[in-house]
Amino acid sequence: MDKAILVLNAGSSSIKFSIFVVPEAGELRAIASGQVEGLGTAPRLKARDGSGQSIAEKSWDTSEVATHAQALQRIAELLRSRFDGGMLAGVGHRVVHGGADYSAPALISEAVISRLEAFVPLAPLHQPHNLAAIRAVQEVQPDLPQVACFDTAFHRTQDTVGQLYGLPWEYYERGVRRYGFHGLSYEYIAATLPAVAPEVADGRVVVAHLGSGASMCALDHGHSVGSSMGFTALDGLMMGTRPGNIDPGIVLYLLQQEGLSAKQIEDLLYKRSGLLGLSGIGNDMRVLLASDAPRARLAIEHFVYRINRELGALAAVLGGLDALVFTAGIGENSARIRQLVCDKARWLGIELDEAANERGDARITRADSRCSVWVVPTNEELMIARHTRRLLGL
Ligand code: AMP
Repeated sequence: MDKAILVLNAGSSSIKFSIFVVPEAGELRAIASGQVEGLGTAPRLKARDGSGQSIAEKSWDTSEVATHAQALQRIAELLRSRFDGGMLAGVGHRVVHGGADYSAPALISEAVISRLEAFVPLAPLHQPHNLAAIRAVQEVQPDLPQVACFDTAFHRTQDTVGQLYGLPWEYYERGVRRYGFHGLSYEYIAATLPAVAPEVADGRVVVAHLGSGASMCALDHGHSVGSSMGFTALDGLMMGTRPGNIDPGIVLYLLQQEGLSAKQIEDLLYKRSGLLGLSGIGNDMRVLLASDAPRARLAIEHFVYRINRELGALAAVLGGLDALVFTAGIGENSARIRQLVCDKARWLGIELDEAANERGDARITRADSRCSVWVVPTNEELMIARHTRRLLGL
């Protein structure tokens, strides 16, 4: 019987899951995926099989499925009803923050969990839920090996200069440094480029991960040498509900002059800013693109402006640019946003092929474009499953 790996990605109000079958040889195969979302408001489960066909759709009262542990129980029930429970050989978790300690995935132990708990203040919206999912699996199946895969690990190849902030040195030693995030996505893209775009895979590449969270990463020979996100996932590009890089003086102003509490500022920066805050309409790029409201247009223009600003900065870190890669929800699906970014990036030698961009081809620049541009779907779940397979020797 083939073995299987369960991948879990626990967020503040959702748990996403995927099941991969581990063949004797060759690539892992996704046989099911889905999510429980709306925890705390309107919990519901959706799941699909490997071909994308719906296999479950349920909703519950908030009192029935209130916690991550209860959500996980419902996922386990579904999986047991469809698959042989004996298949499961391990669980891989997305863990947002691995701090300076982890430059690779880690087999979970009590010692690892307590080290990861120290990073909760650095990723308050994600880390507690990632750890809650690990605990919940431990309770149900204590002997099942679990692996933590970090969003920060891929960036640990960056040199000290790039990871520094201009604060007194002791802050760096205490861990106040630029960590970078979305590392599992960038690692997947770096691993995929040799097949999709062999002519640039070993060159100077900037990857734009544009989803509800958004960041950019500079790859040199497939290794991370710069990232737009920093100490926390608040830095860099403007996102769905986060402002990205802002003058730290604004935080002092809000504290000292406007009398906001730390909690209120956290709420403002994580949940009420970005596309949502600027547009006053919402954080879904599809809705903003379809809107005529002047502030929706302004929010989109600022989103694009910030991407181009960061693109210039990361091209400077790389000393030039051979390729730009778009990925994640907006990057993979919005020809309009890709076009707006590319039109402003002509100075880098980017010549967009508009028809290819509309079709969403893998390569969307003309043959004579000095710098090529690519659309590469990311797959963080597969990256986690690959790490889990390797670490568990499956
Ligand atoms: P992700 O976090 O990678 O799942 O991306 C989610 C975001 O992708 C959503 O907030 C949407 O705004 C955006 N998105 C998905 N499809 C499209 C599309 N066709 N056009 C524009 N934005 C999209």
